[in-house]
Amino acid sequence: MKSPFPLLLLLGALALPLHAELRVLTDFEGGNAEVVKLDEATKTLRIMPAIREGRGWPCWWFFKLDGLTVGDEVTLEVQAQTKPFREANVLAAAWCQPKQAWISSDGKTWTPSDAGTRTEDKAMSYKVKATAAQMSFAWGPPFVPSDAEALLAEIAAKLPEAKRFELAKTKGGRSVNGIRIGKVTAPHQVWVGARQHAWEAGGSQVGRGFIRWFASDEAKAVREKTCLHFIPIMDVDNVAVGAGGKESIPRDHNRDWAAEPIYPEVAAAQRMIREIHTTRGLDVFIDLHNPGATDPVYFYGPFGFERMTGMQQRNYQRWMDLAATSITEPLKVVPKYRFATYVTTDEERGRMSSGWVRQNGGPFTISVTLETGWNYPVMSVEGYGQIGAGLGRTLGAYIDENPRRE
Ligand SMILES: [Zn+2]
Repeated sequence: MKSPFPLLLLLGALALPLHAELRVLTDFEGGNAEVVKLDEATKTLRIMPAIREGRGWPCWWFFKLDGLTVGDEVTLEVQAQTKPFREANVLAAAWCQPKQAWISSDGKTWTPSDAGTRTEDKAMSYKVKATAAQMSFAWGPPFVPSDAEALLAEIAAKLPEAKRFELAKTKGGRSVNGIRIGKVTAPHQVWVGARQHAWEAGGSQVGRGFIRWFASDEAKAVREKTCLHFIPIMDVDNVAVGAGGKESIPRDHNRDWAAEPIYPEVAAAQRMIREIHTTRGLDVFIDLHNPGATDPVYFYGPFGFERMTGMQQRNYQRWMDLAATSITEPLKVVPKYRFATYVTTDEERGRMSSGWVRQNGGPFTISVTLETGWNYPVMSVEGYGQIGAGLGRTLGAYIDENPRRE
């Protein structure tokens, strides 16, 4: 008797749709998405940021959608992760729902989608027209370790006197890399770093704008009298696996600046900063963050700023005044310090990098964090880059005044 299977197989094949099957890919640096549903017929994909156990907020998402036909209208819905990320804490939806999703058809250039709309069940829904068979979608313009590598290589090629270095190997065995620009013996010493919170990709975007400015002809004068250490990504492990990082277990990088840090890269940064300060004096420390949806661009300053006197007060105030004239595009920096008052104890404040540097610096040292909001279409690769260039100009003008003068 003839087997009926060939006929069944043939019928099955005819029933297949003619277009390729839609597939969600996350198997790459920074990739993260948990598929909640994927409807081929309506081309509707719903995702939520996947939990990375013990690795902080589930807010970052970044995936590729494969099998598209140019012209398709895709609906992307993003909802909050439903499971707790730490003890009983479930992260609020707003953290993973930017007004615009960020889209790329070549993996290099990123543009914002049209504004999303909220569904009845509190997902954010974005409509996107397919412009390639495979497209990338992300919470914001991504910046992953390979971007850091490309940036460091670019700067090193431009400035042969610059020196690349490995700050540390992470617990996951990955390299945390940086670059030093300027002579070790330079009269001024500066440290700039980003991504102690892995999901805050805009911090590294600002960092890229900053270091490109610092390597430019415009910065020649400041380069001659400054030794800069720059780290594009601190929490490389969490960035690499697409984790949020913030509120990791037992603590995140920006709560790890204790006597005994958990993370090798934090311990190494402490050692280097101590060494710089002991031998040459540290002038400026800047930590780059990208935390709040509707936040403006602002600096967190030192607690007790109002009570400061002398050189310290003058330097923090000069920094702010110079920043206000230099950081103007695409948004003006808030011309007054804000204070991270949500951190309530001195013990916890001392474990934040900015607080640790204040405790370990000198009378002329200033230590600030630059915080950029993310929920604006102008917070693009270019927009963050402009803020970074403005930060560079602030530094140039500040060093030019000699912050160590009496
Ligand atoms: Zn942060």
